[in-house]
Amino acid sequence: MQGACDGRCSFCDRGTGGALDRERPPTPHDALLAAAGAGGDATTFGGDEPLAHPRIFDAVRRARESGAREIVVMTSGLRLAVGDVANDLAAAGADTVVVPLYGPDAGTHDRIVGALGAFDRLRAGVNRARAASLDVRIQSLVLVANLARLRETDALARAWTGTGLAQASHVLPRGPDPAEFQAVAPRYADVVRALDGSGIPLGRFPLCIARRSLPGTRGSEPGSNPADVRVFPAQCDDCSLHSACPGVPTAMLLLDAERDLEPAQADPV
Ligand code: SF4
Repeated sequence: MQGACDGRCSFCDRGTGGALDRERPPTPHDALLAAAGAGGDATTFGGDEPLAHPRIFDAVRRARESGAREIVVMTSGLRLAVGDVANDLAAAGADTVVVPLYGPDAGTHDRIVGALGAFDRLRAGVNRARAASLDVRIQSLVLVANLARLRETDALARAWTGTGLAQASHVLPRGPDPAEFQAVAPRYADVVRALDGSGIPLGRFPLCIARRSLPGTRGSEPGSNPADVRVFPAQCDDCSLHSACPGVPTAMLLLDAERDLEPAQADPV
């Protein structure tokens, strides 16, 4: 979905003169309702800020009427504690909200989101969503700015919802400036040092890195982000995980990612 966004996240190109404008016009109502009513097993509302769209509740209702088994809304969570939003979302038929948590405290989270008070608003929103009987899944990103605090972030997600981070995902470049990406994305060696054995699921990471955090991690489907171009460096040629591995984002070669890969000898997939 396209529309307004409540944040100004340090890893996103909104408000930076990049590909996304800060205030994009909302997805046309007819198109949204048509997509929501297309049926299917699960319907996910995501993109900019779905809860900012003027017809979001109608669209969720339409998805429910279409027979979707699960209806998921991906949101910054900042609006969930506003008025009756959480209750209205549940009443319309949503099952689950997926929200981001970037740090275990207001200082870390607010700095990454670029919005003062975001942490407190998110915490209130999670409480309101749970009170409305919505399932709440919390996810994160692996960033230089939060890598050292991701274990605490996982613990906080567990304290808030009873479940740790659903996923901590790979960050992608928001523009062509390599220095900017290098300032945001941690090296794989640092990821392994910080998260080895943590049990945190790493999304869209090379399997040899993801499995250091959570053994047994399975390969992920190709993403739809055009910035997510993947390669397999020469080290991967004899790796037994190759067929299941999503590979390495090309931007990570700026961070000498190939040096930190750990090709597997036997196939434990
Ligand atoms: S060595 Fe290469 S193919 Fe093997 S898991 Fe790592 S990135 Fe994937």
